[in-house]
Amino acid sequence: MSCLFCRIAAGEIPSTKVYEDELVYAFRDIAPQAPVHVLIIPKKHIESAQALTKEDDALLCHMFACARKIAESEGVAASGYRLITNVGDDAGQSVHHLHLHLIGGKTLKWDN
Ligand code: AMP
Repeated sequence: MSCLFCRIAAGEIPSTKVYEDELVYAFRDIAPQAPVHVLIIPKKHIESAQALTKEDDALLCHMFACARKIAESEGVAASGYRLITNVGDDAGQSVHHLHLHLIGGKTLKWDN
């Protein structure tokens, strides 16, 4: 298995787990951009949001449900947070396994 995030989800590479269920794994970003920076990934390997298919509709909905739960447990549900998924080179996607960045805990700027 060569995908970094597949290996993290499988427990082969250490990570700081925030949440896990049968479909999703969530862990702290190694280079946090804000006080709260959690990565939410499907256990199934999907390259990016561009590779999603109709069959992944329920999974994607579940990832957002997990994000809501994590936002609560991280204490940012009321103050607000950002969910980001980078797709491809121009977006700077560096790990080619679908992930939601859940970022919060401070007032976020929109900086391109
Ligand atoms: P992206 O640039 O959108 O593909 O995001 C990949 C994210 O994965 C970056 O924010 C990295 O800091 C993060 N990352 C890379 N390797 C690890 C790791 N071993 N554990 C936790 N986060 C990681």
